[in-house]
Amino acid sequence: MAADFPVASDVRLGGDATQTRFVLDISKKLDTAAFTLADPYRVVIDMPQVDFRLPAKAGDNGRGLIKAFRYGLVMQGGSRIVIDTKGPVKIEKVFSLDPAEGQPARLVVDLAATDRESFLRAIALEPRKPAAAPPQQAVPRTTPGDTRPVVVIDPGHGGIDLGTKASSGETEKTIVFEFATLLRDKIERSGKYRVAMTRNDDSFVPLAERTRFARAMKAALMISVHADYLPRNEGEAHGATVYTLSDHASDSEAARLAEAENKADVIAGVDLTKEPADVADILFDLAQRETRAFSVQFAKMLVGELKSAARLHKQPLKSAGFMVLRAPDVPSVLVELGFVSTKDDLKQMLSPAWREKTADSLLRAVDAYFMPRMVGAGGPKGAN
Ligand SMILES: [Zn+2]
Repeated sequence: MAADFPVASDVRLGGDATQTRFVLDISKKLDTAAFTLADPYRVVIDMPQVDFRLPAKAGDNGRGLIKAFRYGLVMQGGSRIVIDTKGPVKIEKVFSLDPAEGQPARLVVDLAATDRESFLRAIALEPRKPAAAPPQQAVPRTTPGDTRPVVVIDPGHGGIDLGTKASSGETEKTIVFEFATLLRDKIERSGKYRVAMTRNDDSFVPLAERTRFARAMKAALMISVHADYLPRNEGEAHGATVYTLSDHASDSEAARLAEAENKADVIAGVDLTKEPADVADILFDLAQRETRAFSVQFAKMLVGELKSAARLHKQPLKSAGFMVLRAPDVPSVLVELGFVSTKDDLKQMLSPAWREKTADSLLRAVDAYFMPRMVGAGGPKGAN
């Protein structure tokens, strides 16, 4: 399937804390665009879609100015490498070399240490690049007069952003995408709703883009799907948890999780300075209060239904400041299916039987939530 994409087969780092070279072996020369981002310090290299076949754990350890790096798809047709640097750096050179003398083609990035002031000045002088093409999001088939409510399902992470990772290698982005796809099919098959997903493949979608999509779809409900991770030394945690938005986290674990989930854009090298500031926040306030009440109502129904299918976290209903739940007019919840760091949870999340049961209970919660609304509206088209 990826037959036509250039293959990246190996990577090497060289140099020291004043000058560091990053070398990627590729099957052919690439056109690249590199830029830097502050807070935290990063170097972002955009390129056409590449099939990364690097050794496992490539990127986990740095050298010289490079702390670590990651790589992957940001959109269909476009790949990216994000390098975390130990301090402010200058991109001295980025170039591709043709294959020569038995060596494959190479992408070379030379970095040099600099001070913060020069770093920030360099960012200010960088030519503004056109915004990336909007991600491919399948819009549900709408026929005029179709008044069925729209449910948006939001599989977390994707592409370069793996989310959490089990010690056995399974990634959150894949687990939640497979679960979300199953859930979408179930909700769609019920005939009562139109369903859309914020991503339909292994691409990265920025957090703001996800809420923007739900609003543009005039969604009546948004369900964001994730899987959590707790380091071993912080004790054992297990079970599903349902989160809603709040200004103050319900407890320190919720605060930790929201902080981790909100890092997705930083991980993927999104230039947040180009995000328009949230306009007319105050106007949203009233709508937001109502939206939050509906979100909590659905979250409670969901916990009630999940009880019969999945093991729940000891504290299954929580709230914190999740970016992705901020659509002011779309009731939204975030479901953590379980902990990839907990053996039993991971086993369940990978099990088709558990996924079926859990998706069924989500559908029942969706039905329970919409029932009074549909009765009031004279019933949905296509129901019965
Ligand atoms: Zn997540």
